[in-house]
Amino acid sequence: MAKRVYNFNAGPATLPVPVLERAKDEMLDWENTGMSVMEVSHRSKEYDAMHHEAMSLVKELMGWPDGYKVLWLQGGASTQFLMVPQNLSVPGKPMEYVNTGAWSKKAIKEAKLFGEVKVVASSEDKNFSYIPKDVSFSEDAAFAHITGNNTIFGTEWHYDPKVPSDVPLVVDMSSNLMDKVIDVKRIALLYAGVQKNLGPAGVTLAVIREDLLPKAPEKAPTMLKYSTHAAEDSLFNTPPCWAIYMCKLVLEYMKEKGGVPYFERINREKAKLLYDAIENSGGFYKGHADPDSRSLMNVTFKLPTEDLEKQIVDEAKKTGMVGLKGHRSVGGMRASIYNAMSMDGVKHLVEFLKDFQAKNQ
Ligand SMILES: *Cc1c(COP(=O)(O)O)cnc(C)c1O
Repeated sequence: MAKRVYNFNAGPATLPVPVLERAKDEMLDWENTGMSVMEVSHRSKEYDAMHHEAMSLVKELMGWPDGYKVLWLQGGASTQFLMVPQNLSVPGKPMEYVNTGAWSKKAIKEAKLFGEVKVVASSEDKNFSYIPKDVSFSEDAAFAHITGNNTIFGTEWHYDPKVPSDVPLVVDMSSNLMDKVIDVKRIALLYAGVQKNLGPAGVTLAVIREDLLPKAPEKAPTMLKYSTHAAEDSLFNTPPCWAIYMCKLVLEYMKEKGGVPYFERINREKAKLLYDAIENSGGFYKGHADPDSRSLMNVTFKLPTEDLEKQIVDEAKKTGMVGLKGHRSVGGMRASIYNAMSMDGVKHLVEFLKDFQAKNQ
């Protein structure tokens, strides 16, 4: 057995071991082609079947109804920051965003290249430690945009903002894709770089309501129109075959385990265990996020001093846990406990935190 660490990295992130093992087994001869999935033609029948199966698994696991298209895109979620306004901006109508952190800001910056942006709510006043309450978007918005989970700050939306029925809601779900069951019918366009909660880096998942497809302006570059990719089932050009294949293996693994409801249950248990440990530390560990805005995926917290924060990350590494250093804009620690992080990993971390506190308080 290979020696595996508990990997708390924010992204690219840990993947399920059975998935990695299957990929290893199929590396040299995939589907009796005598080739790896990286070497076959993306026009072959074997590839085509896998590619479409991965799409239908996304639909099935998330419960997308008819009338939505699943897309495999490239350029990361960062390219979606510009593709969204490129496709959905409407002259004379504001694009409305909620600013809940670094990724929201980047999305807002790109949207400004395409027209008027209105930031309808922000949590910047308290270093993005909460999700603004009672958010609502206006009737005349071209679209409404939220960041479902704020990877850096460790906050997540746990309620649905008010969106007028004919305003499309766009959600960046890069770091909370399939972490819990959601009412997908409220969403007009979802996008996610998959390297946090679904697969390796290299592919971006988007799911778009079909009535939005014709909205892109004629002049938009071909590759940057959702309609281009939708019309060709994301085979307009060479797709990132390997990354899509890995997503398919993860989706199959998720389905076998019991789908999103299973992962939601485990994710809530894992998050509770960790947040309780932070809360019960008598102030030694201090959570960054307000309790009602806490992320199920990225748990951010601080220690009494920066020296201790450095020391704890080093010591964690010695006990087989990596990726715990917080992002510089928050400091402290960040434990990313995505779907593929086991309960054992979180228990190991919690025991370690107690032990570290006892020795260093
Ligand atoms: C990581 C991340 C991104 C950026 O994704 P890339 O695929 O690296 O472009 C965007 N939004 C959120 C919420 C993220 O966590």
